[in-house]
Amino acid sequence: MKETSHIFSQVRNEGRKNLLETEAKTVCMDYDIPVTRFRLAKNEAEAVELSTSIGFPVVLKIVSADIIHKSDVGGVVVDIKNAKEVRNAYRQILDNVRKHNPSAKITGMLIQEMAPKGTEVIVGAIKDPQFGPAIMFGLGGIFVEVLKDVTFRVAPVTEDEAAEMIQEVKAYPLLKGYRNTPPSDLKAITKILVNTSKLMMDHLEIKELDLNPIMVYEKGAKTVDARIILE
Ligand code: ADP
Ligand code: MG
Repeated sequence: MKETSHIFSQVRNEGRKNLLETEAKTVCMDYDIPVTRFRLAKNEAEAVELSTSIGFPVVLKIVSADIIHKSDVGGVVVDIKNAKEVRNAYRQILDNVRKHNPSAKITGMLIQEMAPKGTEVIVGAIKDPQFGPAIMFGLGGIFVEVLKDVTFRVAPVTEDEAAEMIQEVKAYPLLKGYRNTPPSDLKAITKILVNTSKLMMDHLEIKELDLNPIMVYEKGAKTVDARIILE
């Protein structure tokens, strides 16, 4: 929690509202929300070095306060398998970003472990003017974007309420496992929902939070992308 307050005041001091992915994921770690291992590289050589220390395959992502949707500007390359591919991805991303947004101030390149494929879920939070923070849950991809299969609870969300939220979405049978898809770790999702609720209650200065996607496995889960916007 100490780390979170420090990050928020730093973001405000810099006149920003959007946290960088590195900052948002540090806040997540502070609240025991699991995230992919990551390091910030300042140049190409460092990108190679950090990729090797994290272990291949890795993902490279642009880090810039001026870029909110990273893949929209060609700022994400996944499944990078060796040092040569790191160098190529590094140059490609900078090239893409400079083309799309020449004035973007670039903080560095985020190197992170490539999360294995799992069942993708989304946890979000918004602030309702009347009810305060509310927590959202749904399955990723078409379930949220096309079918709007999501559920909300006003915070604070208890463990029982979090378990209800998970069972409430229409896609719930997919989480329970079917055919050759193994069951997802529902306890891990419950914990993420409760911890997100705690974060929102502790920090009413958060306007919006978006953990999208979270990969859920038979055992455990990993947040692949995190966005936090302050009031
Ligand atoms: P955006 O800012 O565009 O939302 P993301 O960080 O979500 O960028 O990356 C885009 C997509 O790339 C994700 O939705 C996910 O499918 C994939 N991805 C990103 N990071 C990882 C990772 N560490 N492991 C596996 N897949 C990833
Ligand atoms: Mg994303």
